[in-house]
Amino acid sequence: MTDLSGRHGVVVGIANKRSIAWSIAQAAANAGARLALTYQDVRLEENVQELAALTRNPLVLPCDVSHDDQLDRLFERIDREFGGLDFVVHGAAFAPKAELTAPFAQTSREGFRITLDVSAYSLIAMARRAQPLMARQGGGSIVTLTFLGSERVFPNYNVMGVAKAALEASVRYLAYDLGRDNIRVNAISAGPIRTLAATGISGFSEILKIHRDRAPLRRNIDAVEVADTAMFLIGPDSRGVTGEILHVDAGFHAVGI
Ligand code: NAD
Repeated sequence: MTDLSGRHGVVVGIANKRSIAWSIAQAAANAGARLALTYQDVRLEENVQELAALTRNPLVLPCDVSHDDQLDRLFERIDREFGGLDFVVHGAAFAPKAELTAPFAQTSREGFRITLDVSAYSLIAMARRAQPLMARQGGGSIVTLTFLGSERVFPNYNVMGVAKAALEASVRYLAYDLGRDNIRVNAISAGPIRTLAATGISGFSEILKIHRDRAPLRRNIDAVEVADTAMFLIGPDSRGVTGEILHVDAGFHAVGI
């Protein structure tokens, strides 16, 4: 098991107990890490506070990733409290509902902007702020969450697929930039899991069913499996891995038909 005692991390993207980011936070806390957990806005504050109370001595802070001033405050606070940072878990994504129901060709300029800003640019914004804190520790690990909709068409995933493609390209460019400070940047491409974000995608039950039927392992995956892989990417066993998109999808990505 990965040992993260004495390590500090920040986890962005917890909405409730079904959030993939929460499974990763739990695994990291169980491995001994001290965590900063963020909530997007007051609507989610109570949920995150309740979950955070299950971890040891957490920092719970607001952060809407589309606001630079909130990101600045988050990393200033982490710097003050932790004196450095070892890992970042980025699990924030958003697309306006209309963009996930109308045909892709109807994607609005504003819907495109918001989706790419929250779901892809935010990784760059976080990585830039994490870099000096991680460099001071001699390195670090940044992990984000993506979906196969970046590589193939999933009906209704639409502009989120474009955002995930941008996110995955950003993983590679960030890995190149930050590698000189021994900071690794990787993504987990997770199979479909029923979460709050997933309920926004029309036809999600059908995606789950097809995935279960066709994946080599003949099943869906769960958030704990994603968290186990995240522990590998955060911990020392993956010290030679960066710029990688690692599929945790019961092998679905490998199947043609
Ligand atoms: P979730 O709804 O639990 O998490 C999404 C999170 O994004 C929420 O916590 C929400 O508060 C946060 N968020 C949205 N806009 C934000 C903003 N402006 N600022 C800060 N936070 C913001 O759902 P999830 O499925 O756990 O999603 C986590 C990540 O996993 C997402 O990137 C999602 O695309 C990805 N993912 C999900 C699946 C799936 O099937 N559920 C599969 C592959 C990848």
